[in-house]
Amino acid sequence: MKFIADGMLGKLTRWLRMLGNDVKYSNTLNDIELMVIAKKERRILLTKDLELYQRAIAKGINAFYMEGQTEAERLAELAKRFNIALVIDLKNSRCPRCNTKLQSTPKERLAGKVEKNTFTYYNEFWKCRKCGHIYWQGAHWGRIRATLEDAKENLKKFGA
Ligand SMILES: [Zn+2]
Repeated sequence: MKFIADGMLGKLTRWLRMLGNDVKYSNTLNDIELMVIAKKERRILLTKDLELYQRAIAKGINAFYMEGQTEAERLAELAKRFNIALVIDLKNSRCPRCNTKLQSTPKERLAGKVEKNTFTYYNEFWKCRKCGHIYWQGAHWGRIRATLEDAKENLKKFGA
């Protein structure tokens, strides 16, 4: 899925990228720029701004108004509307920082580039081809899973 998110949705943008979606985001784009890019690049405009949403719809731009208060609620809304699977597989993920696809990277190549403990305990690493940031399913992964489980619970409520 291709999206463009308004400046208030930075955190959601990172989630959507990890879930494998192409999300353009910059907190310096104004409403007009957001709409122009959405139209030109056929991206779905995600916004928390009802006025912007209504303007976009009036111009025939595909837009979605985010109502959820938490990341889990927002992810559930998007999963329902756009059929997004709430599963992170780093093979399909995009870099949360820059939206570039991640590449699986042999551990040997990362010696000295990640902390020694991390290097010792984890075996699978992914690297962003553009910004070079390195990712692994570390201690923080428990929190990521918990949020996704939360989102799935919310999704069930929508379905009921
Ligand atoms: Zn990157």
